[in-house]
Amino acid sequence: MLIRDSRDINALDWDKMDGLLPAVVQDAFDGRVLMQAYMNREALANSLDTGRVTFWSRSRQELWTKGEISGNGLQLVAVHSDCDNDCLLVLASPAGPACHRDTDTCFDNRRQVRPELAFLATLERLVAERDSERPEDSYTTRLFEAGIKRIAQKVGEEGLETALAAAAGDREEVANEAADLVYHLLVLLRAAGLSLGDVLAVLESRHSPL
Ligand SMILES: [Zn+2]
Repeated sequence: MLIRDSRDINALDWDKMDGLLPAVVQDAFDGRVLMQAYMNREALANSLDTGRVTFWSRSRQELWTKGEISGNGLQLVAVHSDCDNDCLLVLASPAGPACHRDTDTCFDNRRQVRPELAFLATLERLVAERDSERPEDSYTTRLFEAGIKRIAQKVGEEGLETALAAAAGDREEVANEAADLVYHLLVLLRAAGLSLGDVLAVLESRHSPL
């Protein structure tokens, strides 16, 4: 259930754990599990009201807005409850390392998901940042300023180079050219107002359910 307001909050099973629910925090962008803490009604209401993820600190017995001290807050994207309404999944956008050890997650995330796939999401985010900030001396900035036709041309060139490398049987060169292709494709998608998610949704929709 998507938790939006006090009515949804009241529908949760607060009795099971004396007014607390475990809250698992997931990076809304790349899906990594960042941390786990507890929320009471007030912490959840506060999170929804302010858009800043707030927990109940069991050790200090007080509300704890993540990032108050460290500055590494969590911007709330959405809160869902599980099938029994006794656990929360908090989708958030982290402002910095979520763990007190200064790591991105409390769960040594390199083992969580295929990190190279998470890096694809990171790369997409970097491309979007370059587009909105347009820093000088950035190749990506130059591409965006040259416009979508130039970007499209680069995608064509890199696609051809990937194909030629594959036809020549040069594995290392295929990896290099394919990397160029993926990067330019991300830039093209951004310039076309699309995201990687849009493309993946098309791919997914082509798979008929088993
Ligand atoms: Zn931690």
